Parts: sequence; C-alpha cells; structure tokens
Amino acid sequence: MTAVATKFENLAQEYRGKQLPNAMTVDVEDYFQVSAFENTISRDDWENMPARLPRNIDKILEMFDEAGVKGTFFTLGWVCQNFPQVVRNIAESGHEIASHGIEHSRIGSFSQAEFRADVEESRRRLEDVSGTRVAGYRAPSFSIGQKTLWAHDVLAEAGYTYSSSVFPIQHDHYGLPEAPRFPFRSSDTGVLEIPMSSVSLMGRNWPCSGGGYFRLLPVPYSKWAVRRINVKEQMPAVFYFHPWELDPDQPKIEGISGKARFRHYVNLGKFESRLSQMLRDFDWDRMDRIFLGSA
Ligand SMILES: [Zn+2]
Repeated sequence: MTAVATKFENLAQEYRGKQLPNAMTVDVEDYFQVSAFENTISRDDWENMPARLPRNIDKILEMFDEAGVKGTFFTLGWVCQNFPQVVRNIAESGHEIASHGIEHSRIGSFSQAEFRADVEESRRRLEDVSGTRVAGYRAPSFSIGQKTLWAHDVLAEAGYTYSSSVFPIQHDHYGLPEAPRFPFRSSDTGVLEIPMSSVSLMGRNWPCSGGGYFRLLPVPYSKWAVRRINVKEQMPAVFYFHPWELDPDQPKIEGISGKARFRHYVNLGKFESRLSQMLRDFDWDRMDRIFLGSA
C-alpha cells in the first residue's frame, strides 16, 4: 500500500458481508454538457441546444419502475433550473436526488471558496425544487483526485454527508489509483467517500462501474465484475450511466476528436438492452439507503 493510501481510514468493514444491494446511479446531464465536448460547445450555447434530457429521464423512470429499482440521481443545478419538473418527477418516483454541481465544472477549475459556493447553491436549488434533503455529491468527471482531496472537507462544511467522486483507477482524464476501492474518509472532518467500482486484478484496478466501459465491453464482463465484488469481496458495487447513453438518436456533435467521438457514441444502440439485463440480474437501491442506512 502506498503512503497515500495508508493515511485513509478505510470504512469498508462496516459494509462487508451484509448482503447489501448494489447502488444504481445516474449522472443527470444532457448530451451537450459532457466534459469531452467542453471545448466544442460553449456554455453560452447550452440553452439553444435541442434538449433530450426530459424524454431520456422519462425513459429511465419507466425502466426503473418496471424493474422495481430505486436509484440515486446526481443532478446538475443547471438541469434543476431549466427543467424543474424533471427533478420533481425523479423525486416523486421515490429516487434519491443528489448534486452533480451547477454547470459540470471540474473541481480543479475552482478555488476552495468557489467550489463551496457551487456545492451550496446546487444543494439549495435541488432541495427547494425536489422537497427532499440532498446528502450526496458526485464530482463532474470524477474530479476528486490527489490535488483536490480538500473537496471532501468543503463538502462536509457545505452540509453534505457523502461523495461518490473517486475512481480508483488509472485513466487519461481522472482517477486516483492508490485510493481504497471501498468507502473511506480522506480526513477526520470530511464526508464519506464511496468510490466508483473497480475490479482488482493482476496488480491494478480495472473499471467496471458502467459509463463508457459498459458500452465498450461485452455485458458479461460487467456482470462478472459485479458478482465478483458481491460474492468474493462481500461488498455492494456502484454502477453509473448518463441519460444520453439511452438515446442513439441524439444530435451528433461535429468538430470533436476521434477519441472523444468514439467514447461518446460507441454502442449507444445496445445500451438499453444491456441496462435492462443489469436491472433484472442484480438487486439495486439508492446510495443513501445502502451506505447511510437512511429509510
Ligand atoms: Zn457528469
């Protein structure tokens, strides 16, 4: 274990062996708000882009309802302001509303004071509109890394209870490969961090939590990985996806790199049937119920 990891207090024992459901999570942002397009689509154009979010959220709520699944929806403050009814529909369907920041800015782009203002304001907006308490936060692009661990303390000061923002893998845009793979605190005063799921194999951690990897790799890999975490490690897994991944008919964005294009559009047409299989084959619930024991 590296020096970085040893300073983390690992809380995984609290959850191990309890046969808890897995956490189903959705990052509520539209197709034009993803970090890969931030240099192509300016913030000022967001209001003029054809919105696909409301119909995609309706689809997700229908699929979750049919499968009897509740989940956690990490929602942008921008979405809350522009589509308040979407946020109300999610909350009224019994899902957890959590924050994904106001405008999908990576934490590294903020000073600590700016970050605090962003997470306070996004929590206030989401609580006002949903009528529920917001306990959780997910950093845009999993941007809690080595240089931004202070975010855990700021989140606690801003009234949050947990974060699900660390990806303990190596990746070109994010990742904290030396972080614990299961819930931990990075300081005595910070929030509980519930990392994205990974499989530990051949001396490194491999992503298995959904998102682009779920579209890229065959679905048996994800099923194997979730079962391995549940059975071998006796822990809940954390799965995530975006509403636009269910939408092969979304407007195509021009002028992006080949890599960004591949990552965004690969296998969009297969996503719905793959997600249905995951919803059917595993038990899922909201993050607050699994990890905070909330009713
Ligand atoms: Zn996001």
